[in-house]
Formats: sequence, structure tokens, C-alpha cells
Amino acid sequence: MDESPTAERTVVTLDGPAGAGKSSTAREVARRLGYRYLDSGALYRALTWALAEEGVPEETWPELDGEALDALGVSVSPGAETLELDHRGRTLDSELRTPEVTARVSSVARLPAVRRWLLRHQRALGRHGRLVADGRDMGTVVFPDAGTKVFLQADLAERARRRLREQGVESPRREETAREAERLAARDRTDMTRETAPLKPAHDAVLLDTTELDFDEQVEAVVALARKVDPEAGRR
Ligand code: C5P
Repeated sequence: MDESPTAERTVVTLDGPAGAGKSSTAREVARRLGYRYLDSGALYRALTWALAEEGVPEETWPELDGEALDALGVSVSPGAETLELDHRGRTLDSELRTPEVTARVSSVARLPAVRRWLLRHQRALGRHGRLVADGRDMGTVVFPDAGTKVFLQADLAERARRRLREQGVESPRREETAREAERLAARDRTDMTRETAPLKPAHDAVLLDTTELDFDEQVEAVVALARKVDPEAGRR
């Protein structure tokens, strides 16, 4: 009898609030398991960046439909390890992490037409399984049949400090941490209160608080959960 898990069961989802360490954890978990990695936030960031680049005024965003999104010139294609994003032939990467994109992305992500447009790209990557996907609605909406679902949490102040450290600020002043915490909290509020696919743990997700964990501990915790479903992952 074939004991290998079905493709959907080998999808690992990591959801949680901004700055909880999802992307860095997901990328390393994928590496250790030999799975592909989906950074779903990058998709929302790419559309946000393209809307600004193409000069689409913010007050018209709620009227965007599938055709208007097609016309933005963003293309999403599955690469060997993750999704590749480009805009009219230009590869999108560091431009997706600018403060301007970060400040506006939640307003784009709350639009149902945007979420519909991106859904097929995400599901296409998950079809073959062996995927680690991070975001806000991976376990609830995009991959409801995933075999491993984790909801990452951490204290707001700790998340703000980690975010600043990523930006090269090693010993932030108290006001800097407070300002970053306010930005993260504002984004979380928009993400949690939107009508379509709000940020929340799936009913079958494992809650993992990383406030007191170091990076290796949080990666190993997720790898151990994934190996309950696919014991040979990363060992083949
Ligand atoms: O994870 P990251 O910070 O790159 O996500 C940027 C934004 O994209 C989030 O604040 C959220 O508004 C949106 N997002 C989402 N659903 C996802 C991933 C990201 O709504 N699955």
C-alpha cells in the first residue's frame, strides 16, 4: 500500500500578524524540508507597487476588476523554488519592501477582486504539494486542506524590534519601537477586520508564540509538525 501523503496534505501554511517572523521562518522551513516556498504577501505588494507605477489613483481602487488587474502588467510565474514576479519585463524584488508599498498594501489586500485575481496563482503553486506558504489566509482560504497549519504570534513590541533589526537598527530608541509598533498594529487591524479572508487562525491551526523562541527553535517547531505528515521530507 502506498503510504505517501496526498499532495494537499504536504502543504504547510504559516499565517499570523505582521512582523511575527513568518517569511524568514517559512523560507528556512522550506529549505530544510526540500519544499517550495510561497511568499503570498509579495503578490499583494506587487499589485500595490504596480498600481502606483501605472498611476492608478487610490480612490478608484475599489472599482478595479479582473480585466483592470490583468492590464496592470504584473506577471506571476512559478519558478524552481518560489513564484517569480515581474512588471512589464522588470523583475520585482526589493521595490516590494519599501515603506510606501508597506503603508498601502493592506488597502489593496482588502479588495475582493484583488484576492480573487491572486487566488488562482497561489492554488496553482500548491497543486503539487510540498509547499510552505506564508500569509494571512493560507490556512483558512487558500489551502484549507493543508496537512500542517501554523499560526505564528509574538508580542507587538518584540515584533516591532525584530522589524527594526531587519532594517539594520540594532538598538532602537523607545520612540522608534513605539512608532514601528503602531504601524504594525494599524496593518493588523486592517487585515483582521476586512470582510474577505480576514487574518485569523484556521480552526485546525497550531498556535505558536515565538516571543521567547530563537529563530532555530521556531523553524524546528514547524519542521517537526510537517514531518508528522511527511516523515521523509528533507531526508530523501
Ligand atoms: O506578509 P507581508 O507583510 O508581506 O504582507 C503584506 C500585506 O499583504 C499584509 O499586511 C496583508 O494586508 C496582505 N496579505 C494578505 N493576505 C496574505 C498575505 C498578505 O492580505 N495571504
